[in-house]
Amino acid sequence: MAKNTFQFLDVGRFDPKKLDADVRIKQFGEIYGDFDADSSAEQADRCLECGNPYCEWKCPVHNYIPNWLKLVSEGNLEEAAELSHATNTLPEICGRVCPQDRLCEGACTLNDGFGAVTIGSVEKYITDTALEQGWRPDLSNVVETGKRVAIIGAGPAGLGAADVLVRNGVKPVVFDRYPEIGGLLTFGIPEFKLEKQVVKRRREVLEGMGVEFRLNTEVGKDVDFQTLIDDYDAVFLGMGTYTYMKGGFPGEDLPGVYEALPFLVANNKHLLDIPTDDYVSMEGKRVVVLGGGDTAMDCNRTSIRQNAESVTCAYRRDEENMPGSRREVNNAREEGVQFLWNRQPVEIVGNGKVEGVKVVTTALGEADERGRRRPEPVPGSEEIIPADAVVIAFGFRPSPAPWFEKFNISIDDGGRVLAPSEAAIKYQTTNPKIFAGGDMVRGSDLVVTAVWEGRQAAEGILDFLDV
Ligand code: FAD
Ligand code: SF4
Repeated sequence: MAKNTFQFLDVGRFDPKKLDADVRIKQFGEIYGDFDADSSAEQADRCLECGNPYCEWKCPVHNYIPNWLKLVSEGNLEEAAELSHATNTLPEICGRVCPQDRLCEGACTLNDGFGAVTIGSVEKYITDTALEQGWRPDLSNVVETGKRVAIIGAGPAGLGAADVLVRNGVKPVVFDRYPEIGGLLTFGIPEFKLEKQVVKRRREVLEGMGVEFRLNTEVGKDVDFQTLIDDYDAVFLGMGTYTYMKGGFPGEDLPGVYEALPFLVANNKHLLDIPTDDYVSMEGKRVVVLGGGDTAMDCNRTSIRQNAESVTCAYRRDEENMPGSRREVNNAREEGVQFLWNRQPVEIVGNGKVEGVKVVTTALGEADERGRRRPEPVPGSEEIIPADAVVIAFGFRPSPAPWFEKFNISIDDGGRVLAPSEAAIKYQTTNPKIFAGGDMVRGSDLVVTAVWEGRQAAEGILDFLDV
């Protein structure tokens, strides 16, 4: 039957059902349901198949979106899964955690009053269902080269690199200090956005393809970097960014003030039954979260699920100028988080333990070099928000390893590893045998951009190895 190009006039956009807020705050599981074959086909069929698909350009891995939407609308799931994996190592994960409203769906032509195609949910449906039905990537045509590459970091960048290498006959051996793969997918992002069995299943898929993981192994401590240089044909670094930004105001060291990432990591470990001394429960506490990005939203919503008495999120700009995804702010608001916009913290107050956060109101001034309007304090506007616990979520800076210098791996002034994307051999560091990508190169960003850089760096490694 010929495609009805005007399907979008008859069928509106709809998203998979979301659990009601009062149900979801009692558990840590994912809040969105799944599409089935009919609903995904119906939604996929809304695609206009634009000649120059903006969604594809805006997707950082340049997924063949209209092509796999068409395959789904025709019920051809296996081919859709194969095509989806041609550009993306973690499609079911990106379908869950990408800020689609800023990426693929934000660029959909149907945004013009009709509602974008639900690209992320269809992408998730394709891989979840295909894997459940037993589909696995087809590597039957791969010719082994005998080359081996060491990858440090089993986060999205390392996994992206491993995927492309193994598909080209190069053996990837991935080292990670954590007991499970995924990096921030497993230990940073909370379960309500990404259940951990999804990452575990991806490990099984990658192992089935021939990727080897050496977990609980910290490079520089459990194994020397020199050993990797000696034993492998090339090395890829995908080690992320783990230096927490401070506010630089008094009171940050008071008991009851926590850094966002350790708080989230410990909560994830607690839920995974991995022993941790850092677990903090917010039960019964008045929690104030400082920051306006996705990490802040994750801290807000984790505190709510831990039965905090109240959760207030204070951010120094307004809602329009915050860095976090709108979807996550809405989810947090539905779950009971109170937002205080235009509040800049100047001190954490308390006597021997945190008792509150002193903030000033801000007005937005001129735009900064990144185009975001600068918050300017309003004189005489100080107030104290009472708090029993404060979580600081101001973002991350790179954390270059002490051994970089010895191995001639150069970094920029901000600590990011220099590995240019535009060079003749992509993502090669100043040591020709070493490549790098993901957050440690571009600064803290997104899962999908880390996947892209890992995949691109693998292309660079293949050029370097001449295979
Ligand atoms: P990472 O994921 O950080 O992985 C690096 C890995 O390297 C880690 O596993 C680490 O253990 C390992 N490693 C480091 N040093 C060593 C060593 N010496 N030896 C062995 N192993 C080592 N992005 C989104 O797109 N959507 C979201 O919803 C989202 N939510 C987020 C929520 C939080 C709380 C945080 C912190 C980030 C979030 N992000 C989100 C960002 C995203 O998770 C990161 O951009 C992405 O994970 C970066 O991938 P990466 O591979 O570069 O680094
Ligand atoms: Fe959209 Fe992310 Fe999937 Fe690309 S990877 S199509 S941006 S959800």
